[in-house]
Amino acid sequence: MKRIRLVLTLALMVAAAACHKPSGPGAVDAARMAAAANGAEWLAPGRTYDEQRFSPLDRINLDTVGKLGLAWYAEVDTDRGQEATPIVVDGVLYTSTAWSKVYAYDAATGALKWSFDPKVDGSRGFEACCDVVNRGVAVWKGRVYLGALDGRLIALDAASGKEVWSVQTTDKTKPYTITGFPRIVKDKVLIGNGGAEYGVRGYITAYDAATGKQVWRFYTTPNPEGKPDGAASDKVLAEKAAGTWGEGLWKKTGGGGTVWDGMAYDPALDIAYFGVGNGSPWSHRLRSGGKGDNLFVSSVLALKPDTGEYVWHYQTTPAETWDYTATQPIMLADLTIDGRPRKVLMQAPKNGFFYVIDRADGRLISAMPYAPVSWASGIDLTTGRPIENPASRFEKAPALVVPSAFGAHNWHPMSFSPKTGLVYFPVHSIPLGYANDPGFTYRPGASNLGVDIAPKDPPGPGGTLTPDQATPKGLLVAWDPVAQKARWTVNRQWVLNGGTLATAGGLVFQGSGEGELDAFDAANGAKVWSHKTLNGVIAAPMSYELKGEQYVAVMVGNGGAGGVAAAGLSRPWPRLPGRLLVFKLGGTAIAPLHKSAVAPPPVDLAGVTSAGDVARGYEAYHRNCFACHGRDVSGPWLADLKRSQMLRTEADWKSVVINGARSSRGMASFSRFLTPTQAEDIRAYVLTVARQAQAKAGG
Ligand code: CA
Repeated sequence: MKRIRLVLTLALMVAAAACHKPSGPGAVDAARMAAAANGAEWLAPGRTYDEQRFSPLDRINLDTVGKLGLAWYAEVDTDRGQEATPIVVDGVLYTSTAWSKVYAYDAATGALKWSFDPKVDGSRGFEACCDVVNRGVAVWKGRVYLGALDGRLIALDAASGKEVWSVQTTDKTKPYTITGFPRIVKDKVLIGNGGAEYGVRGYITAYDAATGKQVWRFYTTPNPEGKPDGAASDKVLAEKAAGTWGEGLWKKTGGGGTVWDGMAYDPALDIAYFGVGNGSPWSHRLRSGGKGDNLFVSSVLALKPDTGEYVWHYQTTPAETWDYTATQPIMLADLTIDGRPRKVLMQAPKNGFFYVIDRADGRLISAMPYAPVSWASGIDLTTGRPIENPASRFEKAPALVVPSAFGAHNWHPMSFSPKTGLVYFPVHSIPLGYANDPGFTYRPGASNLGVDIAPKDPPGPGGTLTPDQATPKGLLVAWDPVAQKARWTVNRQWVLNGGTLATAGGLVFQGSGEGELDAFDAANGAKVWSHKTLNGVIAAPMSYELKGEQYVAVMVGNGGAGGVAAAGLSRPWPRLPGRLLVFKLGGTAIAPLHKSAVAPPPVDLAGVTSAGDVARGYEAYHRNCFACHGRDVSGPWLADLKRSQMLRTEADWKSVVINGARSSRGMASFSRFLTPTQAEDIRAYVLTVARQAQAKAGG
């Protein structure tokens, strides 16, 4: 009897758990994620597990979009890049900003409900190759989950914003960062990290959403010490990956392969997909002695979400040497190809090819260039391997290559409309010179590319590139993944070119680095609506419905890889505080001009001198400062050094560069990498450039 009662009680508990509908703020679960596919909700940055970013809402459509106006806006306290896609759950809009801060607003009125600042140490900003951005939060069963720049995974109470638990997902002594948003699958929080430009070993971890306890970890590169990690990846790394690495610096750096952005999940197949980043250092010759494919760098990995068990992989760029990450957004869709229904995975990684892969077994279905590509003439569909142009490997001579490290497509979200069958995404075609770096030595914690990406003597445009390949451009592309060709394109800003949203209203929304949010006819690319955002937009818009009203929301704020690493190529001045803009039909709100939209005045350099060596300063600058402050001090994105008051005296300069006086704002002390004498050499060089710039402006 007792046993029967126990069985009955257990059965009732199971039934209760199955029927349990979460309630209260942020009550998202698997059933609700599944239902969202056809509903008005936007429950995760990618909206649904397939990350199609398609809104089934159509109140805002080709006929009505002309009446779209601002409903409300909010301004945040950071002027660094804004890359988050907001989410809306039960009338609350959650978003994140640069420096990993989280905000919760009433989605109808914009009233702030709470905010959370994880108080990331500003000096960690140095370790973020591509700005201190954050791409969004996840909500699950009453909690909001944030990956913080310093490697923490933090669970917040969705009602109050108070911290519930926090775990350090990375070794804090190493230059790991988190900029991507967590995915939550089967009560597990899946999170990766970045840092391959500096020297780290990539991995994905699953944490119990309730407690923060680690469930499994999967490393994307073999253990440099040749031993097992006691992780989910041990078996497959030994069987498939270990033999693909030669002798080289990967044993010091960890080999890279960071998983910092693209992920998706197929509940029917119960497979989670992860995009894996570039090798570390970039140079395959230095990393692996020029030998081997270096699995699982630049690959799509398919794993079982409960255990991290390997299912399949597809490597987009074997022996990667150009920063051709495959961590770009991953999207799942069901397409009819050659008359057959296919469950596919789609990705447009940095290397310029659009891949359509069978997501059940990882077999390549098709791959075609979606942008000018010089490094390979195509992908062999039998082997799945690229047909490389050997000169692009810059082994014997520097090479001008396209796409470049900026990617023909980077992290910017892409969207898919089942109505048009098209995938919409931003393309940046930016050639870059690559050369071996004979002066390179590995410095733990520093930028360790092992490649000279500003060679003084790269082959000129036209030397190895066609005019089409050599001409920088930005495009919004509507890609037919079945025919593998563009149906239409629109010219856009070529460095800062935003993510996209497709809607059932026949629209594609996209922001531009030039300071506009635009809507295009999804069928033909005709611009049908535009709004001046007063600041660049790189993030993707999203859409939601409340009480019969459809809204479109977007984070505004230039920066990111384009803003920082391509400083001087783009036109991002001035840096302005980030904003969240929310639109509805008939909206009449007005976001005022920013108060600080002026550049600081030039520095008075009269009588300023330096005993530093300009030539040595040039060399040291381009080894240490270039990534954030631009080639030839071209800025101006992060502090324009030509306009820095700190330039006036040796002591002031040293206080920042060596003593870290600006570390809370993201400028770490460089005492690990530079002597005071080298810092002064850099000052001498920057002074020269500043004087030249002032003379030019004056003349
Ligand atoms: Ca990279």
